[in-house]
Amino acid sequence: MKANVLHGVGDLRYEDIPVPDLKSGELLLKVRACGICGSDIPRIFVNGTYRFPTVPGHEFSGEIVDAFDAENKSLIGKRAAVFPLIPCMECESCRRGVYETCRRYNYLGSRCDGAFAEYVAVPAWNVAPIPDNVSFEQAAMCEPVSVALHALRRSNVSIGDVVAVFGPGTIGTLIAIWARACGASKVLLVGNSTSNFDAPRSVGFDLMCNSDEKDPIEWIMEQTNGNGADIAVEAVGFAGTFGSCLLAARTGGTVVAVGNPHGDYLLPRDTYWQILRKQLTVHGTWNSGFDRSDKNDWFSAIAAMSAGQIHPEKLITHRFGLSEMNKGLDIMRTASEPCCKVMITMED
Ligand SMILES: [Zn+2]
Ligand SMILES: [Zn+2]
Repeated sequence: MKANVLHGVGDLRYEDIPVPDLKSGELLLKVRACGICGSDIPRIFVNGTYRFPTVPGHEFSGEIVDAFDAENKSLIGKRAAVFPLIPCMECESCRRGVYETCRRYNYLGSRCDGAFAEYVAVPAWNVAPIPDNVSFEQAAMCEPVSVALHALRRSNVSIGDVVAVFGPGTIGTLIAIWARACGASKVLLVGNSTSNFDAPRSVGFDLMCNSDEKDPIEWIMEQTNGNGADIAVEAVGFAGTFGSCLLAARTGGTVVAVGNPHGDYLLPRDTYWQILRKQLTVHGTWNSGFDRSDKNDWFSAIAAMSAGQIHPEKLITHRFGLSEMNKGLDIMRTASEPCCKVMITMED
């Protein structure tokens, strides 16, 4: 089969490799769509994967075409999204069903082979079936959509809340989409001159601030009668943005830290003091929830897409075939043109 295989940092090759052999508990998925995640850029070009060679790609969907175990044969022919985190099932987090904080997880597309390939082997446990009215592209966005929902759920958002999102990239915009779906009275987006504001605009957001042109805290105070946002979400990963969230949150408000940190965080004392003086609640969020409950992040995401409540596929700005993946990586890496979600799609 064809696959994009990472042989070393910056050494991604489009080549022929064997179709994966299945082990007990596994299914073979014919990949139909796989998004390039922002995290794939440092994974491919800076940090590498946990071992080489590895096929990256963790935001994917496809059709189940084979199963190792007899009891899973009934899944053949089904369409599915796949939770990429493979829990150890033994640690304390796993015993509680909080698989996203598993301490010894495996991961499709970073620790083991993922989906920038024609086929990928996946544990049957990780599969989330999708209804016919959810497209493969939508299903491939289940991962970032679920990560965004997980982050917003950490905030205990409620109807009427003002939600400010710093960082209108894919995850930030998806958080904004969920905030609106959850009944936020106002969703405020803050970016800078490197942001692609067209993506959130294309899904109906118009309250946006370019922090290179206007002080975002002042802007948020204007938008909230001087009170600040009920919820401020940091979806960038810089100390300065995190500090801005602390300043932008209202008294008794909530800050959610989503962005992976780009470096050490040093905050001015007055900024840190906001946590104490305003009695803020600061939540961390990691990955997404995939316990077996009906309302886990993945099943909720699929249900909302199926019901037409959210349209994450509108954030897809670029589509490439498997053999053209480098073009998609280049656009994301160099920002040579405005982009949001870059999707690798496979023909029948
Ligand atoms: Zn991702
Ligand atoms: Zn575990």
